[in-house]
Amino acid sequence: MEMHIALVPGDGIGPDIVRSAVRVLDRTADRFGHSISYREIDAGGISIDRYGRPLTEDALESAAESDAVLLGAVGGPKWDHMPGSLRPEKALLGLRSGLGLFCNLRPARIYPELAAASPLKQSVISGGVDLVVVRELTGGIYFGEKGRSEDGGSAYDVMSYSKAEIERIARKAFEAARLRRRRVTVVDKANVLETSRLWRETVSAIATSYSDVELDFMYVDNASMQLVRDPRHFDVLLTENMFGDILSDEASMITGSIGMLASASLRDDAFGMYEPIHGSAPDIAGRDLANPIATILSAAMMLRYSFSLEKEAKAIEDAVEAALADGVRTKDIASEGEEYVGTQACCSEIIRRIG
Ligand code: NAD
Repeated sequence: MEMHIALVPGDGIGPDIVRSAVRVLDRTADRFGHSISYREIDAGGISIDRYGRPLTEDALESAAESDAVLLGAVGGPKWDHMPGSLRPEKALLGLRSGLGLFCNLRPARIYPELAAASPLKQSVISGGVDLVVVRELTGGIYFGEKGRSEDGGSAYDVMSYSKAEIERIARKAFEAARLRRRRVTVVDKANVLETSRLWRETVSAIATSYSDVELDFMYVDNASMQLVRDPRHFDVLLTENMFGDILSDEASMITGSIGMLASASLRDDAFGMYEPIHGSAPDIAGRDLANPIATILSAAMMLRYSFSLEKEAKAIEDAVEAALADGVRTKDIASEGEEYVGTQACCSEIIRRIG
């Protein structure tokens, strides 16, 4: 297969971790007989420095012309004084909305070797936690009409969803579940919200086309408790924008390792943007200390979701797991006194295990 990938290294540790992911992609392509071409795009602080804006139209166009985008991270203290519309983080919003990405996938996994990093008790996570939050990204209360009364004494934010918006993300969740343990939990507040009742009806109708996937429903207050009480219960959590925003951060925190968490933003076709959930870590930038695993796992997600290369994605994930099992650690995931390696050495250890 021939893949055209846009790289958005961004700022801080971004260039280093993207370089690592590219090395892993190249090795994987070699091993499985694919070819990859890359195109590098400026976005975030580096784009502000070069062009006076966090994202140029040319950059967005280049990203749109590719098959998929791999992003490092943007931002840093250098640009903290910039006004809102000119902040590096605007590049992310510009890319997500400009590329029409409506579905956010955030896996949270606790590796047995790193279980001690989780803030949860061992008895709660023993046997492993492996879930993914599927969050609707472009609808709901964040995008509904909002305003204040004339005297400023009251305010409102409208939560609205159409059937079509729910259907398209539900399909994404069921498809994701088919690549996993085949269980979707819809998280909502159907005892109070009309939008949640529409979600339940619509997802239930879509579920008839996925009879091999188990479907259940959970109120969001309960789901937020179950995530810390018994996270092993979950496979795919499907939810609307605001609930997903909160639950995906909660799910990340239970793993205890921000440098390990990947994400994908998808739309109806195979196109997607893939990025670690962490930021540009300016405190360790340029010191070969960044953990590249979140970005490497984002690249694996890219192979799975944008190119349907399941074997190849799994080869990368298995190599990461094997490296961890063999004691390979970057500083952020090393226990006190444990030896650790730098960004590129960690990447080499993973590449060695791809075979
Ligand atoms: P951060 O995620 O960059 O860093 C938080 C802490 O985690 C830091 O101590 C950092 O060293 C550590 N860390 C993060 N990623 C790591 C990795 N791969 N390996 C090892 N350690 C890692 O969050 P922050 O400090 O709040 O933000 C720094 C900058 O990043 C800000 O400008 C912020 O706006 C931006 N940011 C960007 C994104 C993005 O591009 N998606 C996301 C969050 C924050």
